[in-house]
Amino acid sequence: MSKATDYLQHVYSVIEKRDPNQPEFLEAIHDFFQTMTPVFEKHPEYIDENILERLTEPERVIQFRVPWLDDLGNSQVNRGFRVQFNSAIGPYKGGLRFHPSVNLSIVKFLGFEQIFKNALTGLPIGGGKGGSDFDPKGKSDNEIMRFCQSFMTELSKYIGLDTDVPAGDIGVGGREIGYLYGQYKRLRGSDRGVLTGKGLTYGGSLARTEATGFGLAYYTEEMLKANNSDFAGKKVVVSGAGNVAIYAIQKVTELGGKVITCSDSNGYIVDENGIDLDIVKQIKEVERGRISEYADRVSSGEYHEGSVWDAKLSYDIALPCATQNEISGEQAKLLVENGVKAVAEGANMPSDTEAIKEYQNAELLYGPAKAANAGGVAVSALEMSQNSMRLSWSFEEVDDRLKDIMKDIFAQSVKAADEYGVSGDYLSGANIAGFTKVADTMIIQGLV
Ligand code: GLU
Repeated sequence: MSKATDYLQHVYSVIEKRDPNQPEFLEAIHDFFQTMTPVFEKHPEYIDENILERLTEPERVIQFRVPWLDDLGNSQVNRGFRVQFNSAIGPYKGGLRFHPSVNLSIVKFLGFEQIFKNALTGLPIGGGKGGSDFDPKGKSDNEIMRFCQSFMTELSKYIGLDTDVPAGDIGVGGREIGYLYGQYKRLRGSDRGVLTGKGLTYGGSLARTEATGFGLAYYTEEMLKANNSDFAGKKVVVSGAGNVAIYAIQKVTELGGKVITCSDSNGYIVDENGIDLDIVKQIKEVERGRISEYADRVSSGEYHEGSVWDAKLSYDIALPCATQNEISGEQAKLLVENGVKAVAEGANMPSDTEAIKEYQNAELLYGPAKAANAGGVAVSALEMSQNSMRLSWSFEEVDDRLKDIMKDIFAQSVKAADEYGVSGDYLSGANIAGFTKVADTMIIQGLV
């Protein structure tokens, strides 16, 4: 065993011993370490600096009680989190997730991924993540507001426009950001730059809503182009029906692809005529309903219960945009049988460890989340810039910058993969490019 693999195994076992009950965090670390051997072989100084043990331990973890009153007057309690993972290259930056599955393992895996994603954007943002096990599903607007106010009452003590800037993620969209910002303003004054994903009337950026989905389409197009292909005439399967999925469907369609599915946690729609996005937007964004309703409104739409990744369909490109671990090894095998040539991830860690192995065995083009879905946080950083300058750029200006950032992320990944002898491996390329930037910065800053 080389010194590099020895070191990687040693650090992994330290982390496993410390947090044996954090499976998603361990999975993210494991998949990341899998790609790090060439880096540690080429740069033994990273071993001398014990950089990996430092990088995998968050700078700070905050956990707090969130009490709130439901509409019946009963007091409820949820758990709130903010993990301030790494501030080497800028203030902690990353979303808040409200979902019943949220726990420290989930927030730490998301925060860890965010460090490298944010580094890849080329903008000065560190990595953080937060959220709560609060379930917004079925709650009234007033309940959401009271929850957000209570959550922010505690969170406001730890964030700031130059220290930590939260945003949205699953379960946190424009409505929640509005309530969170309103409460922050009452408590600490009107620091617009303290949250991103804000509404356009109070410091939000044009194209922020679209950014993750559009960015995913731009990244995927770059990956296809580099392999003498494009979206034109391709059949595309998208999972999810949230903010990422909706704007991925829109941009992929504009780029000439035909998206035939979308889904929610209960089931999925197949529409061989191409998903009618206005109907999806009406159901999900206006009515906050279930995706099954699509089939009642569009005659070519069929609704099926279960996961879209269990469907036998013929298609070319898969864009998982729902949640972590939505594609298992078995499902990845089916995806290959279905004829898929490229996978790019709109969600965070949607492919589990076995699924990634299947993509590699089948030599699929694979765009990993931290590169492919970085468009959201990239435009968040542009929102911060606009807030600091007290001006707003046009939609086209933001969208052009987003396109350039996604192209650059793909180019960085290709370059790093070439440099470290793993050409065409965009997963390793993204991990290496993100890692070396953060690690080098930490070393320059001393033992931090
Ligand atoms: N939650 C998004 C992500 O996973 C966006 C974070 C942000 O805009 O700060 O990158």
